[in-house]
Amino acid sequence: MSRPVLILSALPQELAALRGSMKGVEDVEVGGHEFHQGVIGSHDVVLATVGIGKVNAAMVATLALEHFEFRAVLFAGVAGSLDEAVGIGDVIVAESVVPHDTGVFGGEGLDRYQSGHIAFVNPTDRFGFTPSPDLLDRLREPLATLRLMPVLGREPRVVFGTVATGDQFVNDEGVRRSLHADLGAQAVEMEGAAVAQVAEHFGVPCLVVRAASDLAGAESAIDFVQFVDDASANSVRVIRVVLDLL
Ligand code: SAH
Repeated sequence: MSRPVLILSALPQELAALRGSMKGVEDVEVGGHEFHQGVIGSHDVVLATVGIGKVNAAMVATLALEHFEFRAVLFAGVAGSLDEAVGIGDVIVAESVVPHDTGVFGGEGLDRYQSGHIAFVNPTDRFGFTPSPDLLDRLREPLATLRLMPVLGREPRVVFGTVATGDQFVNDEGVRRSLHADLGAQAVEMEGAAVAQVAEHFGVPCLVVRAASDLAGAESAIDFVQFVDDASANSVRVIRVVLDLL
């Protein structure tokens, strides 16, 4: 039997479609957190919600990776789009996940740096976390033709890009613009880079998949509530393809 795949989300809504299609579910408690073991299609999986934010995400990923042996970690969820070209419902597959709120405040705002590093203490040239290029290459063609569920009367598409992670819900046009300008990121969320960092520590491949539930601007809190379910369903459609191609 091959090792299972760990699939994490922040919120129960984001995992709903996957939980619905999982068979042979067995709930397992590890370190006071609940994990759901079962089978999706022909794949052994373990699902869990981590809650919102980097600490919750890192804590639950660590509990899981310490307890089980996984062949991959996937994050399925929603995000705020930072890119005019990425609309609500579109799915962003992270070619890179970057921490946007870690670094040094040195008079000119935040000088961003890799999580766990500071330029003058333990310098590194790295910024962010990247999945295996092989996996990304395997995914490009099938995902280019994948049909997603229409949102706002439009058929969403899958894009590959940069996802920015921080402990703030972005509900601000100025922040949205600067995150896109500074990092070239397509989407912002609150867990991805933390999970990727933990997965890297355990030597397990990781991929973050996020569907835009909102545009991270002035309307984002309202849009989030309205579109979290539809966007989540689309992120799960992509996850199903990823599971087959891991
Ligand atoms: N209002 C919600 C909380 C949403 S937090 C509630 O009360 O339950 C938003 C979640 O979706 C986070 O887990 C984050 O990863 C993602 N997300 C969606 N849109 C976002 C945005 N604009 N900024 C940051 N994270 C966002």
